[in-house]
Amino acid sequence: MLNSIIQENIQVGEIANGLPLTIPVYRLKGSGAGPSVYIQANMHGAEVQGNAVIYQLLELLKHIPLNGDITLVPYANPIGCNQKSGEFTLGRFDPITGTNWNRMYHDHTDLIPAFVETHQTLDDGALKAAFKSTLLEQTHALLDGDAYRLTTGKRIALNLQALAHQADLVLDLHTGPISAKHLYCPMYAKESARYFDIQNVLLIPEGFGGAMDEASFCPWWQLSQALAQRNREFPIMVEAFTVELGSQETIDLEEAKQDAKSILSYLNHKKVIDSNEYQPTRMARYACYLKDYLAFYAPMGGMVEYTAPLGEPIPAGTTIAKILRMEQYLSEQPLHDITLKVDAIPILHFASASVNQGTELYKFFTHYFEL
Ligand SMILES: [Zn+2]
Repeated sequence: MLNSIIQENIQVGEIANGLPLTIPVYRLKGSGAGPSVYIQANMHGAEVQGNAVIYQLLELLKHIPLNGDITLVPYANPIGCNQKSGEFTLGRFDPITGTNWNRMYHDHTDLIPAFVETHQTLDDGALKAAFKSTLLEQTHALLDGDAYRLTTGKRIALNLQALAHQADLVLDLHTGPISAKHLYCPMYAKESARYFDIQNVLLIPEGFGGAMDEASFCPWWQLSQALAQRNREFPIMVEAFTVELGSQETIDLEEAKQDAKSILSYLNHKKVIDSNEYQPTRMARYACYLKDYLAFYAPMGGMVEYTAPLGEPIPAGTTIAKILRMEQYLSEQPLHDITLKVDAIPILHFASASVNQGTELYKFFTHYFEL
């Protein structure tokens, strides 16, 4: 074994009987010559496959020369993965407030004007270091402030941000419900999307909506914008992605190994690891802007057979579902073909076969183009 792995357990809250909520954090140390990385998984309770990807990454990373430090965090949300109902895992929303667990990260926008005012004369390297320190100080100040100000979810989120803000590259591992692999990629980082073995790439604007990827890259994008207004070119120093690994409620160790290799291909491109063994697979990659990511709601209630092939382009007019309405068997038509009127790539569909009218049935890339 080339690299040693250090484990630390961090406390991110307490539950009602007083027991601590803890998260395992694994660290590998690099030579310092390359960018540092933060990877977390399972912020949403049912999206467990990222834990398997972290397992396979650790298995591979033990033997690879490292330029940059790598921090890996499985079970990022210790409440979510234990939030069961019957045999299923819920864990997408805080059960008390209904807030999406991945919308509670802190927005640092208000730091930017004062920071630019006081630090704009520094060179790029010093400016980067100072801004990183400022983000970390602000995050720790919120965590160390009055305890009564923080909700359960915000406290977890801030603890994760305190780790993520140390890194130059951030990957948040998620899955869809029943889903093809896809990547949420900020527009400015789209060249990097070619290094992941992920066919479908969703290009998102640089705004903040509360998710980990945005919380990681937004401050740096905003800093770059603020400096541009003062005629200074300052690159966006951090890249962050949400990696959607496939379907929820599934552990597939062989698939996880492929995804770990795909992440290593990206890390090799970024010179975090020193091994040319990991290269992107040649494949057609398709991109879609977030505004063209079509949510298709069930036009009627019923029992659904999902028939669209996930991840592959389909022409306009394709039948994407058959909806069974048994109460109409004698009186009307019991089977209804649902078609999509535009060319699209089906990315994910609802996890259950019984749907109410208006349930989000599918999400599609529309107006997609080759990356
Ligand atoms: Zn998710």
